[in-house]
Amino acid sequence: MEKIKMTTPLVEMDGDEMTRILWQMIKDELLLPFIDLKTEYYDLGLENRNKTYDQVTVDSANATKKYGVAVKCATITPNAARMTEYDLKEMWKSPNGTIRAILDGTVFRTPIKVKGIEPCVKNWKKPITIARHAYGDVYKNVEMKIPSAGKAELVFTAEDGTQTKETIFEFSGPGVIQGQHNIEQSIRSFARSCFTYALDCGQDLWFATKDTISKKYDHTFKDIFQEIFDSEYKDKFEAAGITYFYTLIDDAVARVMKSEGGFIWACKNYDGDVMSDMISSAFGSLAMMTSVLVSPEGYYEYEAAHGTVQRHYYKHLNGEETSTNSVATIFAWSGALRKRAEMDQLPELEQFADNLEKACIDTIESGRMTKDLALITELENPTVLNSGDFIRAIRETLEKLYA
Ligand code: NAP
Ligand code: MG
Repeated sequence: MEKIKMTTPLVEMDGDEMTRILWQMIKDELLLPFIDLKTEYYDLGLENRNKTYDQVTVDSANATKKYGVAVKCATITPNAARMTEYDLKEMWKSPNGTIRAILDGTVFRTPIKVKGIEPCVKNWKKPITIARHAYGDVYKNVEMKIPSAGKAELVFTAEDGTQTKETIFEFSGPGVIQGQHNIEQSIRSFARSCFTYALDCGQDLWFATKDTISKKYDHTFKDIFQEIFDSEYKDKFEAAGITYFYTLIDDAVARVMKSEGGFIWACKNYDGDVMSDMISSAFGSLAMMTSVLVSPEGYYEYEAAHGTVQRHYYKHLNGEETSTNSVATIFAWSGALRKRAEMDQLPELEQFADNLEKACIDTIESGRMTKDLALITELENPTVLNSGDFIRAIRETLEKLYA
């Protein structure tokens, strides 16, 4: 078979630990034999982030603005232990946080359903997509430890010098405080991305915050969503036969558990972080979920929702066999390639992305899978494969699809 041509490069963001190992295997076994792969490569591995004073992360986000589509491997967010492990010059920020702050937008996360892996919530028949606002709130917070008694205040100084003040708390002893912000423009683009995405996939949109308690902060999110819905999307939703539904976050959680699935659940940044791990695990595995950041300008960054699988990496370094599930990382590639194909009008590349995903699903449904899935599958006598053999089994299935 002649290799499939690409015209514009993908922005390739390499990462850390076990996912970095999988990244190379995926390229060698599943991409390079089939595609004349064009990428602009950025090494976001912690060593290189440290070497470049994290400039490489900023450069990769700017390249995404230039080319439009990126694919990202999971990366380490340094903590105290990583400082010594990697001899870091600084405790570099989360690359995802840096990239999201530059691109803005919304992260959409959808479970990948396969036969034989059933959600542990038995009434969930269809996937639930989480739409996570990717800017601000606690991820851009300012915090202070209060050492002793005193008054904490919230002060806003306008450009003309006028000040508005609110007392946060009059401390009689030590405590903690935290300041958060968001930007109206970012909330508006979050709302528009969610409404557009709902129309694209013909699914209802739910949105929930805690506006009864947070009467200004969360209420602003609620009001902006309603205003944009009423003025720009109401008619389109009616025509598409879908609905927009706002409720309190605790009510939403209760309803999600009782639902059949098949809708999009828009969440503020923190809620989305937490709920997407709950949804993916309940649907089967952290590694069976797609994740894409959609910016308001129409830039796309595809990634896996899980981390670098550190525990497996240490086993790998010890020469022990690992059985790490590469599906989320493969779907990051297929998602990015499909988007590139759509933008550049390359039907063969689009077909390849479909085939690659089908090969993953068919392989698992045939009973060949990694350990995380074998532990929960309803298929009888599954074959547990190691990390490399699983990818090679997918390649075999993919070759059959092309034969
Ligand atoms: P993790 O990498 O998500 O792994 C946690 C556990 O989940 C693993 O030990 C494994 O369980 C299971 N798991 C996750 N992905 C799996 C896969 N593909 N196949 C099979 N099992 C999988 O989280 P972590 O170990 O807490 O974090 C490691 C590093 O990842 C941290 O440095 C963190 O900063 C980073 N991180 C990055 C991202 C990102 O870049 N998007 C997101 C989250 C975390 P068992 O050990 O029980 O097999
Ligand atoms: Mg998280």
